[in-house]
Amino acid sequence: LFITFEGIEKCGKTTQSKLLYDKLLSLGEKVVYLKDPGVTEVGENFRNALLYGKNISVETEVLLFLACRAQLVNEHIFPALKDDKIVICDRFSDSTFAYQGYGRNVNLSFLKSLDKFATKGIKPDITFLFDFSFFEAKQRFLDSKDRMETESIEFHNRVRAGYLDLASMEPDRFCILYSKLNIEKLHEIVLKKVLERKN
Ligand code: C5P
Ligand code: MG
Repeated sequence: LFITFEGIEKCGKTTQSKLLYDKLLSLGEKVVYLKDPGVTEVGENFRNALLYGKNISVETEVLLFLACRAQLVNEHIFPALKDDKIVICDRFSDSTFAYQGYGRNVNLSFLKSLDKFATKGIKPDITFLFDFSFFEAKQRFLDSKDRMETESIEFHNRVRAGYLDLASMEPDRFCILYSKLNIEKLHEIVLKKVLERKN
């Protein structure tokens, strides 16, 4: 079972994905926790360039995110799924479609082909999309700011609308949750959905 968490900055996806991971572990499930970009050597090295690099072109941005994802798929996701483990991933392909596609106006079907190449076509079974406005997100911003977090409000609005559009195209895969619900309530909904799907 392959589960991803998506949404704009500070939407709570990291908190919720970790809560789910801990809960599944405590239930005795075989589960792995991943984040995209990250985890692999390539992923960790590029992550820094991606988030804090100077003069990164859109093309570079797309290709580096996809390179990180390709490593993650090969080194971790495929092996774990083969072992029948539950894979939880903080961000995945939909981030590329939302940020580089809707946010930076890279052609979506082109991005989808590139992503298919990078991921060998693997798709999440369930994607939790945490939705709220950038205005609400901003109230959670601390002082750490990466390249995307300093983008304009228009950029973030496009990304948010993009996520909702992607979800409307695949309603069976996506589960949209309102980020302002309390942490326990959100966790309850996420867990229920995962256990239903698993059995
Ligand atoms: O917050 P997180 O740890 O997921 O950091 C990843 C950063 O990379 C975020 O600022 C996010 O907006 C950005 N990102 C992106 N395009 C992607 C994936 C992540 O711009 N495809
Ligand atoms: Mg962030």
